[in-house]
Amino acid sequence: MPDVDDHVTDTVTVGDLEAHYEGGDFTAADPSKDHFICDGCTTGVPYTTSDRVSQYIVNNVINDEHPIWQQAIVRSGTRPFTPMATYCADCTTRLLLLPCEGYTEVRLAFDMGDDRTYRNVEVTDFSPEKDGIPWNPAELSEQITGVPFHKNALLAASLGADLWAPEDIVRVFQSIGPHLDIRSAIRADGSFNPRELDRAREAYDEFAQKLQRNDFSRKWFRDHTRQDN
Ligand SMILES: [Zn+2]
Repeated sequence: MPDVDDHVTDTVTVGDLEAHYEGGDFTAADPSKDHFICDGCTTGVPYTTSDRVSQYIVNNVINDEHPIWQQAIVRSGTRPFTPMATYCADCTTRLLLLPCEGYTEVRLAFDMGDDRTYRNVEVTDFSPEKDGIPWNPAELSEQITGVPFHKNALLAASLGADLWAPEDIVRVFQSIGPHLDIRSAIRADGSFNPRELDRAREAYDEFAQKLQRNDFSRKWFRDHTRQDN
């Protein structure tokens, strides 16, 4: 359990992060809607939910040349902590899925205020840049999909996003179904397990074909992940 005095970075503590988010506005991808979309199962979660939800927050991303990221750095004058994924109560985990060395990653649990603000914010897990497993998210994606990372339009199209941090890659492959745990393809030293990688490749090919046949339908994706979970 993280302590408020634990350092997430050299200058930012767990307590700092919790205080920073507490009472702040929850930034919605589409503020005109009455719900946000869970990045785990793509279900719409009403802002009126009393369920505790969570976010995955990082201060560095895989494709850090991305214009959105570059703008964020210019605006804040530093690498800002940015929510990359929001999870519904069903998809929320207290622990990070697969902390990656080189990235400062944080799991933030919170209640949604009536005014769409963060309430009762708690850092339930974090991994400073120098910790985590030295796995390469872009390489894992390329190894499984066979597509250069920056060209991975299939993943981007299916999720409506193209800015990535390590857990986003894990989540995409986890959504293929419970018969595949992509984390088993990565050894503690960050190298890949070839046998598990082969299994993942096969599962991904099948998944991608189905997704394509269903015109990258969000509904199909949602039904698929729910049915399998
Ligand atoms: Zn969900």
